[in-house]
Amino acid sequence: MSSDECIFCRIATGELPADIVYEDDELVAFRDVNPQAPTHILVIPREHIESLDETTEPQVELLGRIQLLVKRLAGEEDLDDGYRVVVNTGPAGGQSVNHLHYHLLGGRSLGWPPG
Ligand code: 5GP
Ligand code: ZN
Repeated sequence: MSSDECIFCRIATGELPADIVYEDDELVAFRDVNPQAPTHILVIPREHIESLDETTEPQVELLGRIQLLVKRLAGEEDLDDGYRVVVNTGPAGGQSVNHLHYHLLGGRSLGWPPG
């Protein structure tokens, strides 16, 4: 899929609306349109990367920054009891949008194993 057809690229450019909670030169965080928990935020790189499986060593800092942003947003959302970070990857992993995204879920007790 090219980046101009990608809904998360279009959210990152502002072409599609989203409830954005954080953005900088590299990353955008916005609330999931179909939340699965009281807090459900997606963190994406602005760069169109299809999935975690497409990432390579030069992206190690980007991946680290995504995770530190997830942690920071969890703090801002007062998820003091804990939270879950999910990166669905590929069809069997349940990935439905082919632009790398980290789910931050919290605000309720989350079951395990996932479905
Ligand atoms: P995946 O299933 O790929 O791991 O997660 C994709 C997530 O993106 C889903 O939780 C879905 O609700 C969310 N999503 C899909 N389209 C949109 C959209 O246009 N706006 C927002 N904010 N979230 C979306
Ligand atoms: Zn994209």
